[in-house]
Amino acid sequence: MSVTQLIDSHCHLDFEVFDNDRTEVLQRAIDNNISDIIIPGTERIFWDRVKLLCKGNPRLHACYGIHPYWLNRHKKQDIQALAEYIESNHAVALGECGLDFRPRQADKKTQMYFFEAQLATAENSRLPVVIHSVKATETVIQTIKKFKNLRGMIHSYSGSCEQAKQLIALNFLISVSAGITYDNAKKIRAVVKEIPLTSLLLETDAPDQPDKDNANSRNEPAFLINTLHALAKIRGVSPETIAAQTSINARTLFNI
Ligand SMILES: [Zn+2]
Repeated sequence: MSVTQLIDSHCHLDFEVFDNDRTEVLQRAIDNNISDIIIPGTERIFWDRVKLLCKGNPRLHACYGIHPYWLNRHKKQDIQALAEYIESNHAVALGECGLDFRPRQADKKTQMYFFEAQLATAENSRLPVVIHSVKATETVIQTIKKFKNLRGMIHSYSGSCEQAKQLIALNFLISVSAGITYDNAKKIRAVVKEIPLTSLLLETDAPDQPDKDNANSRNEPAFLINTLHALAKIRGVSPETIAAQTSINARTLFNI
C-alpha cells in the first residue's frame, strides 16, 4: 500500500551495526516512503560520525547530545563541548538526552546533572530537545518545568495519557515507537489513541525496538511503515492521514 511520505523522528543510523549495509538500509527506507530521518547523537565521540553521515545526504538530519545510558563514558566538560558543537555545526535539535531510571542505571544524580545542563544548553541555543525517558516521566516533567523556553519531543513515549497532556502543554510532542505493534501493549495503545494527532511523531529507534513482525531482527527505518499501520488501526483513521500529519509535526519541530 502506498502512503504519503513518512518521517522517522528517531533513528540511530550512525551506529556500527549499520556499517556493512547502510546504503541498502537507506534504499529500503526510501522504497517504503521514508522521506527524512532524524539521527540523534548519543555521546561526544560519536558527534562527528553523525555529522559526516548527515552531511552527505539531505534526507538525514543531525542532533547532538549526551545520552543517559552510557553515563560512565561522559565527562562534565562534554557539556561545554556540546554547546560549542551545536553552535558551529548544523543541528536540528539537541539530543538525545534524558533520564533512565531502570535499576541498572542507578546514578540518578549524575543523570540529572547532564540532563539539566543539556536543557539549559537547548534553551540558550533555541533548539528543540530530544528526550529519552524510561521509568522517569514524572521527573522529566518536573525538570522541564524549571525552564521557560523549551520545546521538543519525548522519544519512544511510555508514560500515561495524563502525563502526555502535561508534556503537550509544555510544548513537547509525543513520539510513538513500535511498542504499539504488540498485542499485549495495552497501556501505550490506549495512550496513543487519545493524544491529538497534531502532537504525535513516529519513530523506529532503530537498531532497537523492532516491531512485532520483525521482533527478532535488527530494527531499521523501512519498518516504520508497520508502526504507522498499527497506529492507524488503533485510531481508526487511514495511514495516509497519520503519515501526513506526523510529517507536518516533524517538519515543524525540526524546521526541516
Ligand atoms: Zn535513541
